[in-house]
Amino acid sequence: MSDVLAITEHRRGELRDVSYELVSAGRELADDLGGDLHLAVISGQVEEFAGSLSREGVDTIHTVSEGEEFNHDIYTQVTERLADELDPSVILMANTVNGLDYGPAVATRLGRPLVTDVIGASFDGETLTATREMYGSKVETRVEVGSEEVAVTIRPGEWPEANGNGNPEITEFDAAIDESAVRSTVTGFEEVGGGDVDISDAEVLVSVGRGIDEEENIELVEELAKALGATLSASRPIVDNGWLPKNRQVGQSGKSVTPEVYIAIGISGAVQHVAGMKGAETIVAINDDPNAPIYDIADYGIVDDLFDVVPALIAEFE
Ligand SMILES: Cc1cc2nc3c(=O)[nH]c(=O)nc-3n(C[C@H](O)[C@H](O)[C@H](O)COP(=O)(O)OP(=O)(O)OC[C@H]3O[C@@H](n4cnc5c(N)ncnc54)[C@H](O)[C@@H]3O)c2cc1C
Repeated sequence: MSDVLAITEHRRGELRDVSYELVSAGRELADDLGGDLHLAVISGQVEEFAGSLSREGVDTIHTVSEGEEFNHDIYTQVTERLADELDPSVILMANTVNGLDYGPAVATRLGRPLVTDVIGASFDGETLTATREMYGSKVETRVEVGSEEVAVTIRPGEWPEANGNGNPEITEFDAAIDESAVRSTVTGFEEVGGGDVDISDAEVLVSVGRGIDEEENIELVEELAKALGATLSASRPIVDNGWLPKNRQVGQSGKSVTPEVYIAIGISGAVQHVAGMKGAETIVAINDDPNAPIYDIADYGIVDDLFDVVPALIAEFE
């Protein structure tokens, strides 16, 4: 019992980046404990996924071919059974919509403490020390959990993606799923409204936030996007207000984007927003608050009223 079991994620036929981050985080913790890193690949094209996940530092990959997509009941049952079999010190999951769906169920069933949204962790086998953020990322806290068996969800984007080739053992795990306890099924996917624009494909994004104040002012930012040949995106409050469709939302509960240029206008830079755009090559911020957290990651900033700056930029670019 000094091993780590990490549960990987995929969606619509593709492994999610966080799966490779789970490998890095899992390896670190397994090294702390002097143990092995086991990965679980549940549902979908498990053989193909296991091949991609055969990275340096992975000791064993357990595949379970059951269904195509994420399913709460199947993930919960498989993780519980794998934990019974492997007796890992740490069960590592992603702090995603899926991870937060089945993770608490797994922890409860196994009687393990669960530490969520972790951005750093070490474990000596008796005490897990986890780093988490509080108060909108203004404060970092260290949480110590005295337990030999823990469950942890890691925040996406905090560990590097593991990339060296490895040679793990790949084995099929017979999870003996209790079908009578599988009470939900995925019947299909429907893209949220907003038509055919995919902001994650854009090279230049002009992104608008709550600083725009009113719906009719969005037009101003749209004009700038047009002048630049850019695509319009937004922070969550703009989408929550119904001012732009959901497929324009950047961030933790929206899309992750990696454009060449990201222009954040009237966006404070909350951690949930930054999670979706910190991979942009060049970040430009327009915000009248010099202490806005967006300036911590911006390459260029204009500390001024956006209602003065944006018209001037439009005039310049036109
Ligand atoms: C579980 C969860 C998931 C979330 N997911 C997401 C997500 O996916 N994406 C996301 O964006 N948020 C998300 N959020 C919300 C997030 O915490 C913030 O509330 C949100 O990002 C703030 O949006 P904002 O920066 O537009 O607004 P604010 O934080 O209100 O910032 C507005 C900024 O505009 C500036 N400003 C105001 N007037 C002007 C002016 N005239 N000129 C220039 N600057 C001006 C202000 O100084 C301020 O910095 C999530 C929150 C939770 C709890």
